[in-house]
Amino acid sequence: MELENLNGHETNVYNLQGFTPEVVDESYLKKLGVKACPSDETLAGLKKGSELFIKRLAEGTVIPRPRLTMKEIDLDSPVEIHNYTGKCPTLTYEINPVKGCNVGCMYCLVTDGVHENELEAYTNYPEYIGKFLEEHYAEQHYYYFSPKTEALQEPTLQTGIAHRILKEFIRHYEKHPDSRARLFIASKAGDRQLRYSFEGESILDLFVRLKDKMQFNTSVSIMPGEFRSIIEPYAATLEERMKAVRLCQENGIMANSALIQPIVVPYLTTEHMTEFFGMLSENGIVNYKPEFLTACMENLAMLGQILGYYDKEMEKELYEFYIAPENADHRKQRGRTAPNRSDSIHYIRRMMEITEPMGMSISICYWVRQQLGISEEMIPIINRNGFQCLGYQSRLFAQ
Ligand code: SF4
Repeated sequence: MELENLNGHETNVYNLQGFTPEVVDESYLKKLGVKACPSDETLAGLKKGSELFIKRLAEGTVIPRPRLTMKEIDLDSPVEIHNYTGKCPTLTYEINPVKGCNVGCMYCLVTDGVHENELEAYTNYPEYIGKFLEEHYAEQHYYYFSPKTEALQEPTLQTGIAHRILKEFIRHYEKHPDSRARLFIASKAGDRQLRYSFEGESILDLFVRLKDKMQFNTSVSIMPGEFRSIIEPYAATLEERMKAVRLCQENGIMANSALIQPIVVPYLTTEHMTEFFGMLSENGIVNYKPEFLTACMENLAMLGQILGYYDKEMEKELYEFYIAPENADHRKQRGRTAPNRSDSIHYIRRMMEITEPMGMSISICYWVRQQLGISEEMIPIINRNGFQCLGYQSRLFAQ
């Protein structure tokens, strides 16, 4: 089926005036003034990523094409548990009704920013989740909608799959008011997505019927605005995402925690952080989970060049934060590298200094805690506002 994009920008990666992709190699880095001396392996990744970027630009496969194939999932296949650290303190099941994602973020943690494959949606996913819910509701757990795709995007909205998944939860709670399942929705949706109707009911209408059992956590990135509009090609704007947050709050739906993801470190001046968190605070956000950009070297070569289109100094700094040999072991899954540890901890502390006076709390995932040696005194497992890890609200279980 053909999809109709709800968001998009006049300027995109294909028509950036005067932008010519290059090969990020030793001489490119030197010319830029990068001091770090990356390993051969790192250089090979940057070079490969540059070449792939050039090829995908020529083929028109950098960002998703709005086409969707419908498939069916095996109703007996297990629902995946979300616990990539192996030590997450919560039990969380994943809801992933789409393979690929139409938002098309070029830093996507799931695809490493590669959106060549066509999108596929599972038409029977609501039944699949409904069946699993019926079998597992006694134990305290969350459902994360969606860690591997965007929950509220064209493929789930225009097919009604998102609406039907929410209806499965509504049916479930009507049948089992004592259910220990809770719904955690982390999403880049704006107000337009929440107002999207299918068979006469909008996402917001359905949220209202789930309001004591769910939370809606907005997902927002810290980076220059023009850069964001290129590398999040089909995402709602920040203003629209804040409108979605307020719509939820006005309707009694818990929407007071944000995933701050990804954080582009060279952009983190005091002024930018104060402005960004001030905006969140004004929109009723009281908790945030920060997540620095993690990228494999192939992906970094693409992101760096687009950032450099706007600001060469930031591009230089971006590479400095990631490519030094002593940082090569600071990796998440699939070789995604995080910025060096000392800067990461420095910026977490700076964010906390800026957000404390705003009354905001912070929660972090176990992997970050372990990598950066963050103690429970600095950031408790469950913080004073009841949030933990990604921003799961522990008090949801009191309702
Ligand atoms: S919205 Fe999430 S899953 Fe979709 S492309 Fe962006 S980062 Fe990936």
